[in-house]
Amino acid sequence: MSAVDTVIEFIRKQAMEHPEKSWGKITAGFKANKIKTKFLPNKNLSKGYQQLENMMMSLIADSLGKENSYVWGNIFAPCEIMNCFNLKTISIECMSCYLSGYHLEDFFIDWAQDLGIAPTLCSYHKTFVGAVESGVVKVPSYAITTSLTCDGNLNTFRYFQKTKGVPFTLLDVPYEKDEASIQYLADQMRELTQRLSEQTGIPFQEEMLREQIHIENETRKELKKFLKLLMIHRYPGQIISYLYLMMGMHLLIGTKEFLELVRFLVKDIQTYEKFEGKKILWVHLLPYYQESLQEYFNGNNEYQLIPSDMVLDYTGILDEEHPFEALAEKTIENLYNGSYAHKAEILCKFAEDLHVDGVIHFCHWGCKQASGGSILLKEEMKQHHIPMLILDGDGIDRRNSHDGQIKTRLEAFLEMIDDDGGNTTC
Ligand code: SF4
Repeated sequence: MSAVDTVIEFIRKQAMEHPEKSWGKITAGFKANKIKTKFLPNKNLSKGYQQLENMMMSLIADSLGKENSYVWGNIFAPCEIMNCFNLKTISIECMSCYLSGYHLEDFFIDWAQDLGIAPTLCSYHKTFVGAVESGVVKVPSYAITTSLTCDGNLNTFRYFQKTKGVPFTLLDVPYEKDEASIQYLADQMRELTQRLSEQTGIPFQEEMLREQIHIENETRKELKKFLKLLMIHRYPGQIISYLYLMMGMHLLIGTKEFLELVRFLVKDIQTYEKFEGKKILWVHLLPYYQESLQEYFNGNNEYQLIPSDMVLDYTGILDEEHPFEALAEKTIENLYNGSYAHKAEILCKFAEDLHVDGVIHFCHWGCKQASGGSILLKEEMKQHHIPMLILDGDGIDRRNSHDGQIKTRLEAFLEMIDDDGGNTTC
């Protein structure tokens, strides 16, 4: 057992045996990992992904280690607004992922289900509920969520308001992309600034938000360049690197540090050799722990994953002069908003523009939007002669993912792409 595994096992045991006394150990583990990823980075990763990993470990370690420095959010909560109050946004989906790094997801999921939480609920939510209810995770003083795409969020945030007294703002995101909808959401965001101002005692400065929108536009521009370069150069990464990129684009967007990192990715990738293998567009979440997927996509010379919908879920340019309207427009025009047919159309165009060799859609256990829409997406891809594979599994709960099944289906798909360039579908 390596030193890292020994620490993980120690923290896991402590959390299971003394949940209410383990928060300090959990956060100390994150801090230790922050230091490790800085001074002993994973040699199998490109320099840019090493820095990204360290940045994401720092986000969680620094935030959770300091009371009142963060709010809970969901992945679509406008972190740009929270940044104006020196608050980090820790999304509950990401938090569950970090906790699964200690192999605690099964313990928390069972805890939640024993309380009566439905087994069919998404396992990110169950993990989070179990983590808080067991006493391991401490609650912050505020939370923000959106109604966008996920039917689990509102229930989870409501649940904690009721059971733990965590006040929250729900941003109700309309489906329609018209002026009235934009104003409706922009006004809710203005109201959010008032709530956060009351909570923190910090006055809101619109200039600060404008500055972030400016940085955000630059970041997205650079990210698009990086995604295009990923089609040309081999850039060693691991499945988890794409999850980190998704986190950065949602939880650190608008910050100078993240812009600098994306700029570095663009520069660094160009120093790597040409990539001659197959490019696979990945849709939805990534089960970073799955052995077969790691075998094919962690530093493999033959296949390179291109992160898609979760990383670049909005492609437009935000109006810096009207920051609230800009953020509202960004949220409403998010590819996850509205019908799945709309998302399928955008993803198909994305796949065509990037000339990918195939698409893999991961259907995470309990995620209704993913499983409901995957067939629509497959149909759309078929019409454009882009081969697509639907993989069922669980992004976090190892017990719900059957590696043997995933391996068989994945290998058949990759073989098909290798053989005929994907002229048939799987
Ligand atoms: S995987 Fe689906 S159900 Fe789970 S948090 Fe994400 S959107 Fe919600």
